[in-house]
Amino acid sequence: MRDPNCIFCKIVAGEIPSKKIYEDETTIAFLDIYPANPGHTLVVAKDHFSTILGIPEDNLYNLSKVLKKVASSIRESMNAEGLNILQFNGSVAGQTIPHLHFHLIPRSKDDGLGFAWPHRQLPEEEMEATRKKLAEKMGYRG
Ligand code: AMP
Ligand code: ZN
Repeated sequence: MRDPNCIFCKIVAGEIPSKKIYEDETTIAFLDIYPANPGHTLVVAKDHFSTILGIPEDNLYNLSKVLKKVASSIRESMNAEGLNILQFNGSVAGQTIPHLHFHLIPRSKDDGLGFAWPHRQLPEEEMEATRKKLAEKMGYRG
C-alpha cells in the first residue's frame, strides 16, 4: 500500500534519501530532516496509513516496540535527560505529512524548546457527559 505522491512512501521505497537508523518488515525509523533537537527521529509505518486510525493492530504493536527501542537508543546515545513522543492526526492537529509517523525528540533541561499547551477547566457536567460518551463507545461499564 503506497501513495505515489507521498514523500514518506518514497523514502520507504528508497526513491529519495533518508538518514535511516532502523528498518524491519513493517516499520522504518530515520532522522527528521528539520530536527527540533539533534537525534529527532521519525518512526514511520511502512505502508501508507494517513493516521493512527488506519493502521492494523499488529503493525501498530510492532511499531510500538520500535518506538521503545529507539527511545532507549536516543536516551543512551544522545544522553537525553527526557524525551517527547508526538504523533499528529490531521492537518487540524498539526500533521503536515499524511503518512502515519511518530516524532521522538530528545530533551534536555536547557534546550529552549519548552512545551506548553494551554489547559483549561471544564464544568463538571461537561466532563461527566464527555466521560459517558467516550466510555460508552469504548464498551466500558465500570
Ligand atoms: P508532521 O506531519 O507535522 O508530524 O511532521 C512531518 C515531519 O517530517 C516534519 O518534522 C519534517 O521536518 C519532516 N520531514 C519532511 N520531509 C522529510 C524528509 N524528506 N526526510 C525526513 N524528514 C522529513
Ligand atoms: Zn505514504
